[in-house]
Amino acid sequence: MKRIIENLRLIEEEFTYPDLMVCSSAPEPETIMDGKRILMFSSNNYLGLATHPDVKRLAKEAIDKYGIGSGGSRILSGNYDIHQKLEKALASFKGGEDAMVFPCGFSTNLGVIPAIMNLFGSSILSIFMKRFTERNIIFSDEFNHASIIDGCRASKIETAVYKHCDMQDLEKKFKKYKGRRKLIITDTIFSMDGDIPPLDQIVALAKQYNALTMVDEAHATGVFGERGAGIVEQFNLTGQIDIIMGTLSKALGSLGGFIVGNKKLIRFLRVATRSYMFSTSLPPVLAAAALSSIDIIKNNPNLRKNLFDNVNYFRKKVNTLGFNTLNSKTQIIPLLVGEEDKAIKMGGLLFKNNIFAPCARWPAVPKGLSRIRISIMATHTKDQIDYLISKCEEIGKILKII
Ligand code: PMP
Repeated sequence: MKRIIENLRLIEEEFTYPDLMVCSSAPEPETIMDGKRILMFSSNNYLGLATHPDVKRLAKEAIDKYGIGSGGSRILSGNYDIHQKLEKALASFKGGEDAMVFPCGFSTNLGVIPAIMNLFGSSILSIFMKRFTERNIIFSDEFNHASIIDGCRASKIETAVYKHCDMQDLEKKFKKYKGRRKLIITDTIFSMDGDIPPLDQIVALAKQYNALTMVDEAHATGVFGERGAGIVEQFNLTGQIDIIMGTLSKALGSLGGFIVGNKKLIRFLRVATRSYMFSTSLPPVLAAAALSSIDIIKNNPNLRKNLFDNVNYFRKKVNTLGFNTLNSKTQIIPLLVGEEDKAIKMGGLLFKNNIFAPCARWPAVPKGLSRIRISIMATHTKDQIDYLISKCEEIGKILKII
């Protein structure tokens, strides 16, 4: 305990300890934080489905039918008809043969990557397994999400981290590790930069060098693609990715993670993934909410249109003002600040002006690249976005960011 207290003191001295703000209302464009009414520009509820009346109605009906907790893991008493219905819907939405759902996205990556790379998760046949797994190697983008990084670490498999979206570096590493069993993993929207990897080139390289492909569609599901299925659909690569991971917690407005892949893979993962086997299953109410959201996304392309009208409007205006939005092509738009102190100040001044758009800083982003991370929602009004732009301009000038 002494060591923990000493470490905490160091953290508090060296880094500004992040204050936790308290929400006391729904994740809508206008909400209440720390007791005051604010404009929310930091929510992953991109399409507003977390509070959509149809989603809420079906969730309430599911509570009446199933209660709250599922009461067990999928392998024992927690395997519900609504999980299977959701898995069918996800497989069809993503264009795969089968799907499996998890209680959260983080535990999906944390469990699935080791399962794939070690075949049996915790190895019974350890001598045989060691010889087998020694040949395995993971290729991971340096900006991949923490849950992927932790999944790679938990797998204990050698991981080659390639430069962010750098295909030359990826190919160089593929060549260096010729003859090894390869898995390449990338986010399809990077959560701090809002950029998109060249997925077509990644798939082409993976084919050339005989690598399995895995993508994390957490921020893309519901947002990109003709039917809202994600970046894989946007790139016309449906059916060409071996393992698609996603979350139900962002545009789908619920909570949970999922994997879509071929039938045999999913059948295998259900018994090989420790975070699936040994964890209480997703509450049926959340499965019902996600099912309803998928339906709404498929039938309402106007939601995505509204979102991108807002996104393009905001990005263009802040670029004109002189803000650097890095390579963002999505609803996640960073305003690069650089120094941590300045970024914290900017987040604080925005909050003083009733806007919640906090800064992202190390370890979420590299040191010296602190930023305000804006996320735009389909449900923001132009007036709300204009207000944000005017405050960014005012504060950006005061802090000499623009
Ligand atoms: N992958 C990515 C790219 C994410 O941004 C996140 C959440 N921030 C996750 C996985 C984890 O998902 P969840 O929040 O559902 O646990």
